[in-house]
Amino acid sequence: MLVMKNINKTFQTADIQTHALRDFCLQVNEGDFISVTGPSGSGKTTFLNIAGLLETYSNGEFLLDGEDVGKLNDNGRSRMRNQKIGFIFQGFNLIPDLNLYDNVDVPLRYRGFNAKERKRRIEENLERVGLASRMKHLPSQLSGGQQQRVAIARALATSPRFLLADEPTGNLDSEMAQGVLNLLEEINQQGTTIIMVTHDAQLAQRAKRTIQVKDGRVSELEIITPHISQAIA
Ligand code: ATP
Repeated sequence: MLVMKNINKTFQTADIQTHALRDFCLQVNEGDFISVTGPSGSGKTTFLNIAGLLETYSNGEFLLDGEDVGKLNDNGRSRMRNQKIGFIFQGFNLIPDLNLYDNVDVPLRYRGFNAKERKRRIEENLERVGLASRMKHLPSQLSGGQQQRVAIARALATSPRFLLADEPTGNLDSEMAQGVLNLLEEINQQGTTIIMVTHDAQLAQRAKRTIQVKDGRVSELEIITPHISQAIA
């Protein structure tokens, strides 16, 4: 479970201070699929980066599976991120001169899995996203939707509990975007908690819950699946 209470984040650039998150409150339960919408500059990516332990916050309380993130040092945050979080991005972020197999292998090598376990995880996750037959292909030999599927396989290879997606369909046409959403739904049904930032209102509605961020706060919360408990006010 992820709980944020009154999280504030300010950026100081030269003499300009930007208050990116203001008393931001949210609870994300195990098994949730949350979409995050809102105007440009409202703080969506800042929230996602803090949730994914890529960015620190100025003050407030952030508990991830009961652990107080504010008490962790850089190493502790990085350990927790490696254990619990997978990311996918609008630009896929695949390594262009590595084939699909080796791309998915990157986080597994980093985490120190042995060769046999790495092979098992790579094959299982490429299979899961429907690309097992393309293992030796380079990213440039795939469509955008297929490249995003590889990025999803790579994010899932380490079995993260949370998958964070920043505009995962932003570079895709609507058919490919629907395909990626179908896959995310499937992954969520298999147990991974998903938080997805998107500008696309139609895609956002396919999540179990949609929140809107405005001026650095959660301004609106729509509970699409009633049994999921709601965000903290
Ligand atoms: P978009 O939909 O355009 O991607 P967003 O809702 O994701 O926007 P953020 O990227 O979270 O918004 O930015 C929130 C605010 O914080 C903006 O005013 C932005 O300019 C500012 N900001 C974000 N990152 C930094 C940074 N590293 N340094 C200074 N200001 C920043």
